[in-house]
Amino acid sequence: MTQGTEILVAGAGAAGLTTGIALARAGFEVTIAGGLDLNRNGRTVALFEASIQLYRSLELWDRLSDIASPLERIRLIDDTGSMFHPDPVLLRSSEIGLPAFGYNIENAALVGALADIARDTPGIRLLDTLLDDYILSSTRVSARLSNGERIEAALLVGADGRNSRARAAAGIRVTEWKYPQTALTALLWHERPHRATSTEFHTRTGPCTLVPLRGTAEHPNRSSLVWLMSHEDAARRRQLPDAELAAEIGKQVRGIHGAMGLEGPRGAFPMSGLRCNSLVGPRVALVADAGHYFPPIGAQGLNLGLRDVAQLAASVGKFGRADPGAPRALADYDAARRPDVSTRVMGVATLNQSLLLHETPVDFARAAGLAAMAHVGPLRRALMREGVTPKGRLPPLMQPPRTEPKGLARIFADRRA
Ligand SMILES: Cc1cc2nc3c(=O)[nH]c(=O)nc-3n(C[C@H](O)[C@H](O)[C@H](O)COP(=O)(O)OP(=O)(O)OC[C@H]3O[C@@H](n4cnc5c(N)ncnc54)[C@H](O)[C@@H]3O)c2cc1C
Repeated sequence: MTQGTEILVAGAGAAGLTTGIALARAGFEVTIAGGLDLNRNGRTVALFEASIQLYRSLELWDRLSDIASPLERIRLIDDTGSMFHPDPVLLRSSEIGLPAFGYNIENAALVGALADIARDTPGIRLLDTLLDDYILSSTRVSARLSNGERIEAALLVGADGRNSRARAAAGIRVTEWKYPQTALTALLWHERPHRATSTEFHTRTGPCTLVPLRGTAEHPNRSSLVWLMSHEDAARRRQLPDAELAAEIGKQVRGIHGAMGLEGPRGAFPMSGLRCNSLVGPRVALVADAGHYFPPIGAQGLNLGLRDVAQLAASVGKFGRADPGAPRALADYDAARRPDVSTRVMGVATLNQSLLLHETPVDFARAAGLAAMAHVGPLRRALMREGVTPKGRLPPLMQPPRTEPKGLARIFADRRA
């Protein structure tokens, strides 16, 4: 039997669910098909202001804010042992007029909340199944569900993660590379409050970051850990008893939060990079990790992916009202997203490489960059703004609501009226 839908989203992670909700809110009939992964693995996502604005525009933030913890300060500490010893840098969201840079949310909690919202959203069918055996033509796309039935759509959104089958079926070419690092993740309770401050130690094997999490009645002070290290160290640390691992983490973070302990299971993610020669194929658009992948440095991954989602909603809303997979809508999406994606993939690769390379000129350039951020206010503010609300490229769903004109603009507006 073959079912029909206007838009088929492959993947029920944070990106797939948000895509489905955004496109259903724009009036399309959407089916989301993917294995819902609600297992806790110590992994969280820090979502910056533009991503939060997307959830506000979709009227989802009220349902997500309860599981989110604000990030008001970001502290960067050079821990490479290089000869230049740059001072720590403290970035405050108040410097760029924001109450917070963004919010940190446990990944499984975010996916669970978005899945609940998708189930309540008119126009969405959420299927807990994988897709395979895609057949693509210039007018339709068809995929097989795990029960053997087929489903047809005018547009397939590949939100099926870094090993995307939708991407392979569309024949989109990828360049992939590996890093000698694994990210170890865990949720931690600790003795002292984090004061809404995320602290990033830049080590020779990559950043070790503590990101604020919401407290619970049992543990009022909590953070998540993302620690990039060699594959060998990760394999060893994964096997350590909780108390021994907590002691090693405490030593790496110089005891800044006092005594700490582990909460729940840990995760380990081997690091790699991936970029595509295009974000679209015939009747196919890729979003988030299906279209780009890189190490979690500067918390860019899902933030970049949600910019894809917001732009796809804009392009399909503008050029795909009658046919959401129309070539013009897909071309508009690809053209709008590729510069941002290329810049972030290359930027993260460069930052990561600058830590892994033990070379004096590279150490000097990194130290000079940190010193400039610490002491040159306009540069620091420009970098902070670029990190959380990249200007000029934001799709409408990520832009703040228009405010009343002020000052002279107000006077001219009054005169025109
Ligand atoms: C340690 C770590 C820390 C991170 N921290 C941050 C952070 O702080 N901020 C940030 O912005 N980003 C962060 N990221 C990146 C972020 O987690 C990812 O970009 C994001 O989770 C990608 O979401 P996704 O929905 O594209 O992919 P995934 O979460 O991988 O979801 C893919 C979905 O596709 C489904 N699927 C797979 N195959 C099929 C198929 N054949 N058919 C149908 N469905 C399929 C899966 O079941 C799953 O539901 C981090 C990443 C790591 C590894």
